[in-house]
Amino acid sequence: MCGIVAYLGHKSARPILIEGLKRLEYRGYDSAGVALLVDSTFEIHKTAGRIAALEAILPKPKATQTVGIGHTRWATHGEPNTVNAHPHADATGKITIVHNGIIENYSTLKKWLTEKGCKFRSATDSEVIANLIGYFYATDNSRDGQHRPCDENKFEWAVQQALHEVCGTYGLAIMCTDYPSILIGAKKGSPLILGVGESEYIIASDAAAIVEHTTQAIYLSDNEMVVVTPTGFRTKTIDNVLVTKSLKDIEFSLEQIELADYEHYMQKEIAEQPTALATCLGGRIDLKSARVVLGGVQNLLRDLTRTRRIILTACGTAWHAGLVGEFLFEQLARIPAEVEYASEFRYRNPIIEDGTIVIAISQSGETADTLAAVEQAKERGARVLGLVNVVGSTIARSTDAGVYLRVGPEIGVASTKAFTAQVAVLTMLAIELGRRRHLSSDFARSLLAELHKLPAKIDRILEQSDHIRDIARENMDKENWLFLGRGVNYPVALEGALKLKEISYIHAEGLPAAEMKHGPIALITDQMPAVFIATQCSQYDKIIGNIEEVRARGGKTIIVATEGDTDIARYADHLITVPDATEQLQPMLTVVPLQLLAYHAAVLRGHDVDKPRNLAKSVTVE
Ligand code: GLU
Repeated sequence: MCGIVAYLGHKSARPILIEGLKRLEYRGYDSAGVALLVDSTFEIHKTAGRIAALEAILPKPKATQTVGIGHTRWATHGEPNTVNAHPHADATGKITIVHNGIIENYSTLKKWLTEKGCKFRSATDSEVIANLIGYFYATDNSRDGQHRPCDENKFEWAVQQALHEVCGTYGLAIMCTDYPSILIGAKKGSPLILGVGESEYIIASDAAAIVEHTTQAIYLSDNEMVVVTPTGFRTKTIDNVLVTKSLKDIEFSLEQIELADYEHYMQKEIAEQPTALATCLGGRIDLKSARVVLGGVQNLLRDLTRTRRIILTACGTAWHAGLVGEFLFEQLARIPAEVEYASEFRYRNPIIEDGTIVIAISQSGETADTLAAVEQAKERGARVLGLVNVVGSTIARSTDAGVYLRVGPEIGVASTKAFTAQVAVLTMLAIELGRRRHLSSDFARSLLAELHKLPAKIDRILEQSDHIRDIARENMDKENWLFLGRGVNYPVALEGALKLKEISYIHAEGLPAAEMKHGPIALITDQMPAVFIATQCSQYDKIIGNIEEVRARGGKTIIVATEGDTDIARYADHLITVPDATEQLQPMLTVVPLQLLAYHAAVLRGHDVDKPRNLAKSVTVE
C-alpha cells in the first residue's frame, strides 16, 4: 500500500517520478504528490485523487530538477485530502519525506514535538517523521541530549535519530535542502528497492517503477538505509554500521507490466492464466517418477514429510488458496492441516508443537499481517515455507524455504492469476508429500499429467467470457448474492464472493452449500442470485439437493457445472460449464468463471476494476 518513488540522476526528475507513480498506482490512489529540489528549496505539488489529477496541476518540468520524491497514497491516518497527501515537509522546510507504512507511536511523538514548538499541518502519522528529522537536524542533539559527533553527516545522523524514535513500519525517501545531492531511503516492514542505473538511481516501493530505467537493484532489509549521491550509494543500518549489498537482477520486463490490448489489468491477468499456470508448473513435474521437484523446498522436505501438522497462514484471496491447500494436504498427503488468518494468528499466542511447519502465502511477499505471522511462527520454533510471487520480496527472504509462483507481475488489485498459481503450487506440494508417505504412484502420476492439461482447459472457459457477461448483465442490479460450494470447491465459493464484493461493490457471501439451511436460506428470494459450483465430484448429489432447496423457495441459480452434464441444466437459470477434471484439481478451473462474472459485473456497473474503492494492492500495513 502506498507507492513511493524517488529519483537522483542527470535527467529531469519529474517525468520519471510521474511515470513511476503511475506504475505504482495500484498500490494506492487516494492522493498523490511530488517534491522537487530547486535552488536549495522544495517545490511541492500534491492533490487528493489520482496521478492524473496531480499531472493536471503540475507546471512544466525543468531539466535542472534532477532530484525528487513522489508518492501515491492509501490513507491510514487522516482523510485522503490534499493536506494529508505526501510529500510532507518539516516545520522548518528543510526536510521533506514520502512514507509508506504506519507510525504506531505518532501521537506521543506529535505531542512531544508540539511541546518543543513544532507546528503540524496534516492529520497523518507520516508528518511526525519529517518533523522528527527536522528537530534533530536543527538541534544537533539526540533525544537523550547526546550531541552529534562532529565526523558524522548531519542529515544522515538526523534521519538515524528519528528512526530510533519511531515504532511501526516505514519505507521512506527523504531529501534535505542543505544536501541537494543526497537522497536517503530507509526501510522497516515496508518494501524498498534501489534501482541502480548509469549515474542515476531510483528508490521505489517495487520494481515496477524501476524496470523502465534499469534492471539492476538492491533490496534493502529492515532497519537499513541507503544514502544515494550522484557518484554512488552507501547502505548502512540505522545504527550507522555499513552493510554491503549485492546487485540483483529485476526478473521481469516492461512488457509484463503494460496493459497491451486489454482494458484492465484484471482482464489481462484472468486471460493470462493458461500461460501463467503453464509457467508455474514448468519443469517442476517428473511424470516418469510421478514426483514433483520444487527446488526451493529441498532443505525443508525431510521436515515437511515428517511433520505432524501444517499451518497455512495468509490473508484474503491467498487465505482461500490456503483453504484449498488444507483440503489437499489432508486428502493427498494425510497430514493434518489448518488455515489461519495471518492477522489473527499473530496475536493469539498460537500453539506451535515441535515439528509444525508453517506455510505463508502472499502474492506480493510484503503483506504486513502475513509477514508478522511468519516472524511469530519463527520465534516459536516453527520452520516456515513461503509461497510468494514477487522475487526477492520480504517474505521470500525471511522464510526457511520457498516456492515462487512464477506468474509474472500481478497488478490488478483483485488477485486472479496468483490464486490459480498458489493452488497449483499447493497441489504439487501435496502430491509430493503424498508420494513420500503413501500416495500411489499411479494416482499421483494421473494427477500430475492432468495438471499439464489444465492451461488448455482454462482456455476453453475463457472462450465463454461473452456468455458470462450476459449472465452478469441480467443479474447486475441484484445487491446480494450467495456463492455455494462443497469440499474443495467451498474455498472457491468464498473466492467468488470476495471477487464480486471487491470490484462490483455487491454484497456477497460464500458458504459451504450444506450450511445454507442452517440460517442463510432465510435470505433466499428471487432477488438474491445463488451461484452454485456443482461440478462432478464426490458430493455432486448432495449439492443438487442444495440447489433444489434454493429453487423450492423461488431462488435464482447460476450453476457452474461439468461440460457434458446435461441433466443439471434443468436446475439452472444460468449455466456455465467447465471441462471435466479430477475433484482435487477443480478449483483451478471453477474459479475462472467466477472471476469473469465479477469482472463483467463490475465493468457493467461502471466501476474502475483496477482501482476498486478503498482498496489497494499489496497490503503493507496492518
Ligand atoms: N500512514 C501514512 C498515511 O496515512 C502512509 C500510509 C500507507 O503507507 O499506506 O499517509
